[in-house]
Amino acid sequence: DNDDLRLLLLENISQEAVRAFQAQGFHVDHSAKAMSEDELVEKIPQYHAIGIRSKTKITERVIKAASKLLVIGCFCIGTNQVDLITAAKAGIPVFNSPFSNSRSVAELVISEVIALSRQYFQRAFEMREGLWNKQSKGCWEVRGKTLGIVGYGHIGAQLSVLSEALGMRVLFYDVVNIMPLGSARQVETLTALLNESDFVTLHVPELPETTNMIAAEQLAEMKKGAYLINNARGRVVDIPALIDALKSGHLAGAALDVYPAEPGANGAPFDDQLNSWASPLRAIPNVILTPHIGGSTEEAQRMIGEEVSSALTRYLNYGATIGSVNFPEVDLRAITAEQLGIRVCHVHNNIPGVLRQVNEVFSPYNVEKQYSESKGDIAYLMADIADVSPSDINKLRELISKTSANILT
Ligand code: NAD
Repeated sequence: DNDDLRLLLLENISQEAVRAFQAQGFHVDHSAKAMSEDELVEKIPQYHAIGIRSKTKITERVIKAASKLLVIGCFCIGTNQVDLITAAKAGIPVFNSPFSNSRSVAELVISEVIALSRQYFQRAFEMREGLWNKQSKGCWEVRGKTLGIVGYGHIGAQLSVLSEALGMRVLFYDVVNIMPLGSARQVETLTALLNESDFVTLHVPELPETTNMIAAEQLAEMKKGAYLINNARGRVVDIPALIDALKSGHLAGAALDVYPAEPGANGAPFDDQLNSWASPLRAIPNVILTPHIGGSTEEAQRMIGEEVSSALTRYLNYGATIGSVNFPEVDLRAITAEQLGIRVCHVHNNIPGVLRQVNEVFSPYNVEKQYSESKGDIAYLMADIADVSPSDINKLRELISKTSANILT
């Protein structure tokens, strides 16, 4: 029965999410605005779950005040607005929506491949300046050209399928072996991909190994007249080296959606103060610069609402933490409320001896399934137990709360 569970949704989270929670019987308070730390500290003690986007900061002080809080949903991609470690130590998993916009990014890349190849972005820009400049030199169809995808994950794989439909040949490079879709082919080294591709598009996460992954040496390994597209993360490309490769004519164009430093708000300047190379880059023809819009579509927003609300609901109803960014990921085979006897969800400090104590508490019962996992200082055990009488439930609860290392007592 979810009547007693109160959810606070801030920052105008989609109505799809509100409806999904109401359908589950949760009490939902919805606000279009973000909340300051002081407001949150005052309001949060009455809530069991909170949904935010990027503007509301869930700090240590907020978490300490959140005496009933069970779960935090970030209805966006990033999670650095939440103190993830303090939340984990308080037994609060945090969920986000990392893959809801994969298709949107892949579609943007397809449009950039054609725009660069036909130079039509440049032509349209000239028309706006009042200049007629009909050209076919250096303009190509994409059919038969090779697209090199670096990072064959959610976005890279979507892109593979879409670009083959346009008649492109697809190569990809990834640190893990992945089954190629369609007629795509995985290559052994980044160099092999760079040597063979007419278009190179980056879809790796930001990691120490991917920082400046494409620098002067790699740009030199690209074919003359090739194009570089970066919709991944700004630091993956050494931009001054890219500027050199474009100015020398080695590359025929580039599209960038992400930058090492990005303005915090719309209307803010994208200038040399933010990134020292901004004005030289802006002056190069056939370079498409977009303000990190790869995933910014109405569909992606809707998917975020659905994805995060279902993660929160699965946690509140069944304790499942798959996809959580700060918590051990635990679930047992999908089960309906009717089939479920008792599901014990036990969060504890990750120290030796706890599982033995918990299993001692379970010993008079028939444990149907059990799974546990740890992440950093936190461990999470889930067990489904059959035939527990209502009076035994309280006894179980009391005994488990007495096992050592409980973080919630
Ligand atoms: P993903 O995790 O599904 O895939 C990433 C792939 O990169 C994985 O297959 C992984 O094995 C591979 N990889 C990791 N390190 C590598 C390395 N050193 N060399 C080669 N391959 C490596 O991620 P995704 O959802 O496809 O997203 C990819 C990137 O796109 C992320 O950095 C994400 O932040 C970014 N992104 C940008 C936008 C935007 O608005 N422009 C939107 C969504 C995602």
